[in-house]
Amino acid sequence: MEENKTCLVCKKTEDEIPLILLTYKGKDLRICPQHMPVLIHNPHELVGKLDGAEGFEAG
Ligand SMILES: [Zn+2]
Repeated sequence: MEENKTCLVCKKTEDEIPLILLTYKGKDLRICPQHMPVLIHNPHELVGKLDGAEGFEAG
């Protein structure tokens, strides 16, 4: 997985929107406020985008 400074869902950059920094499996990930709820409530939508997302539980 390429590590770069974009939202892991929509690929917006930190120049376009404030990004929330996450750490996961020793890597830094970024997600925009718009997609933070996806991570919380619909993590299965991140399957294919985020390694291991199929094992996440919805909050
Ligand atoms: Zn996003």
